[in-house]
Amino acid sequence: MALSIITPLLLLLGVVYGQRERYKGHQVWRLTPKSLTQLEYLDNLRQKSHTKEVDFWKDPSSVGRPVVLRVPSKRRNEIYIELGLQGFVPEVTIKDLQQNIDEEESLYTQNSFADLKDFDYSKYHPLSEVNAWMEQIAAKYPERVTLFNISSSYEGRTIRAMKIVGKATGSKKPGFFFDGGIHAREWISPATVIYMAAQLIEQYGKNRSITEVVDALDWFILPVFNVDGYNYTWTTNRMWRKTRSKHFNCYGVDPNRNWDWEWCKQGASKDPCSDSYCGPSPFSESEVKGVADFLNAVPGRFRAYIDFHSFSQLWMTPWGYTKDLPPDFPLQNACSAAAVDALTAVHGTKYKYGTLARVIYISSGSSADWTYGAAKIKYSTGVELRDTGKYGFLLPADQIIPSGEETLQGLLAMAKFIVNNP
Ligand SMILES: [Zn+2]
Repeated sequence: MALSIITPLLLLLGVVYGQRERYKGHQVWRLTPKSLTQLEYLDNLRQKSHTKEVDFWKDPSSVGRPVVLRVPSKRRNEIYIELGLQGFVPEVTIKDLQQNIDEEESLYTQNSFADLKDFDYSKYHPLSEVNAWMEQIAAKYPERVTLFNISSSYEGRTIRAMKIVGKATGSKKPGFFFDGGIHAREWISPATVIYMAAQLIEQYGKNRSITEVVDALDWFILPVFNVDGYNYTWTTNRMWRKTRSKHFNCYGVDPNRNWDWEWCKQGASKDPCSDSYCGPSPFSESEVKGVADFLNAVPGRFRAYIDFHSFSQLWMTPWGYTKDLPPDFPLQNACSAAAVDALTAVHGTKYKYGTLARVIYISSGSSADWTYGAAKIKYSTGVELRDTGKYGFLLPADQIIPSGEETLQGLLAMAKFIVNNP
């Protein structure tokens, strides 16, 4: 074919595909360190992950705990040999990542909705549809739901959230705030948050447990925290994690390392190109600063906070920056136990619980540490939703409803616990 024909064709393809990041031939591997030497090796690889182009989906934490990583096709042989020399035999969980992305895409493209009754909770939704859903459900239940803006993102998007209230009691009620989508590619998080918010609204007055907790607490729900990043995963790069601000030659700050509590110490990176970049200063990200200001505006307003992530199936409380236990640990941990018991009872999904630093690894400047340490929200929690690495961030949409059902029971158990144990 003549070059003059090929060039317009390529240009056309560029337009059709919108210059999306492709992951053809990328594989996802799961491996388990069986000794401290192997663990140290993986920790080291993680430090160099940016230059090695290895993307850790699940970081090394302890001996016996699996690690999940994405390896680009051009690096596969080299990394495989390196791992082999260390005694690892990686299990391939995703053979060709682009194929999984394409399959996911084929399910969500025909999925817009005109009316609340057509909103499909078993599908993933782009930001515009999440916002439209909030408008519609607030319009249908005006006595139960109000919408408010938290702040604006780096790229100027509005960060929309909702407040759900039960019947008035004449006295001030403690607040419960939960959010999803702080990390852009963790799509099950906003989807689960949306499902649970809908249940709290629509089952009020029908389901006894829901009615009780909606009457006992004021609920504040932010479905998509990192709006720019989430939008970017839909338009350009499905594997994006951070915000979209620009620092030197790289984009984005890890919004879960940007909080002003033991900021940028162990378990955060000063490298702007790293996926765990803490930012040029604490609260440099308007998204994080906006949520923090909201949580701090009225002292004592909130008793509980959950930041929903994926994946790993963990229910965790402070501290993240140290393995020391905080003074409220016994109550916090009893609360996690109650939540996890209720969650597991629904579909048998197993979760681990404990402090962030002890269950996974030390990280500093994370949301739950700040909400507990600075905003004094006693029941501050970080949750990693499904799964344990088979699909990772590309969790099939048919798991949204089961994830929503079980997590809702965990949430309700937590709400009851905090009402009884202020
Ligand atoms: Zn996350």
